[in-house]
Amino acid sequence: MKQWLTVLGATGSIGCSTLDVIRLHPEKFGVFALSAANNVDRLVEQIIEFEPRYAVMVEAPAAQELQQQLPVGHPTEVLSGSSALEMISAHAEVHMVMAAIVGAAGLMPTLAAAKAGKRVLLANKESLVMAGPLFMQAIKEGGATLLPIDSEHNAIFQSLPHDYKGNMAAQGIKKILLTASGGPFLGFSTAQLAQVTPAQAVAHPNWSMGQKISVDSATLMNKGLELIEACFLFNCTPDQVQVVVHKQSVIHSMVQYCDGSVLAQLGQPDMRTPIAYGLAWPERIDAGVQSLDLFEIANLSFERPDEETFPCLRLASEAFKAGGTMPAVLNAANEVAVAAFLQEQIRFSDIPLLISAAMAEHHVQAATSLQKVLAADSWARVQGQRWLDQHTSATGTAL
Ligand code: NAD
Ligand code: MG
Repeated sequence: MKQWLTVLGATGSIGCSTLDVIRLHPEKFGVFALSAANNVDRLVEQIIEFEPRYAVMVEAPAAQELQQQLPVGHPTEVLSGSSALEMISAHAEVHMVMAAIVGAAGLMPTLAAAKAGKRVLLANKESLVMAGPLFMQAIKEGGATLLPIDSEHNAIFQSLPHDYKGNMAAQGIKKILLTASGGPFLGFSTAQLAQVTPAQAVAHPNWSMGQKISVDSATLMNKGLELIEACFLFNCTPDQVQVVVHKQSVIHSMVQYCDGSVLAQLGQPDMRTPIAYGLAWPERIDAGVQSLDLFEIANLSFERPDEETFPCLRLASEAFKAGGTMPAVLNAANEVAVAAFLQEQIRFSDIPLLISAAMAEHHVQAATSLQKVLAADSWARVQGQRWLDQHTSATGTAL
C-alpha cells in the first residue's frame, strides 16, 4: 500500500532531502501535504512536482503569494496558520510525518502527529528537547511510531537491540557513544572563537545543513541538544552517553555492550540515508547515496570534546540534569542567541554567555503540562532579549 507523507519544513535542508528520497520511489510514497515558513519559489516547484493535497504556509501573506504563483486551477489547496499545520500532521489519510521544521516552532505540529498515532520521522530535535517527557508520553498514548532522523540517533537506533525496551542495563548496554564532527572551529582557542563570523560558522566541514543547526554544530550546542535528545529517546542519563569527537563524520554513533562489543552505523555524511531508513523501516530502500569507500577514507580519528572552550555541551547536560522546564529554557535562549549572532548583534563567544545567564535566572518547574513548557520558552526569550539589550550597543554591536 502506498504510504502518504506530510513534510513539515519542506523547503529546508531536511525537507528537500526527504523529497529527493521520495522522488526515487513514486510507487511506495505519495506526498499528502507540504509546509514551509519561507521560500515560496521552492515550495511552488515542489507542489508542481509532487501535487500534494495541501500546502501550508505559516503566515497568511506568504500563503497568498503562494496561491498567486501557482497555475490557475491547480488542485493543491493552500492554507495558512498553526491549526492548518496541525491538521496536515494529524489527518486521517496521513501515514507518516517528517518533522523538519527548525526550532521550537516544530513542537505543536509534531505533537499533533504523535497524538494522532502517525509514524513520526523526527528531525526537529528541539521539540523533543523542550518537552521530552510530554512528547514521549504523547507518542505512547497516541500509538505512534517514533523514528529518529538525526543521523546520530538513527545510528544508535540501528545499533541497539531490535527489541530495545528502554532499560540499557537490562539489555547489556553500557554506553551510547555519540559522535560529533567538532564543527568548523575544532581546535580553536577561546580568543579565536570571539573573532569568528556567521559566514565561517555556517560553513560546516562535512554536512550541508540549515543555518541554525550549522551554528549549533559550531558551538557544540547541537551535540548538547543531541545529548538531551538521546536521553529522552533511549531513556538514559547523560552519564550513560559519551560524546566522542570524530571529525570525519563517517561513524554516525555507536552502542557499547557489556561483553566488550561496540556496534556502529557508518555511512556518507548524507541525511538521505537516515531519511530513507525512517521512511522504509523495517525494510531498506535506495536512498540515492553513494556507498562508503573505506580505502578513500583511510583513517578514522577520535578525541574527547573540549567542554572548556565549547561550554554549550556542558550547559545542555546541566539543563537535562536540572530537568523540568530547564531544557526548554536552554533551547529558547539558544535560539535567541543564534539569531542574534547571525544578525551580527553578538559575538560567537557570547552565545553560551546568554544561555547560561538565562539558565541561572530560571526557577525550574516540573514540566507537567504543555502550558508550563511554552511559558518557560517565552520567559527565556524575554530573558534572552533583555541580555541582548544590556550587552549590545545602540549600533547593534556587542559591547
Ligand atoms: P532549514 O532551516 O534548512 O529548514 C527549516 C524549514 O522549516 C524550512 O522549510 C522553513 O521554511 C521551515 N520553518 C522555519 N521556521 C518555521 C516556523 N516558525 N514555522 C514553521 N516552519 C518553519 O533547517 P534544516 O537544516 O532542514 O533543519 C530542520 C530540523 O532538522 C532542525 O530541527 C534541525 O536541528 C534538524 N536536523 C537537521 C539536519 C540537517 O542535516 N539539516 C540534521 C539533523 C537534524
Ligand atoms: Mg545530528
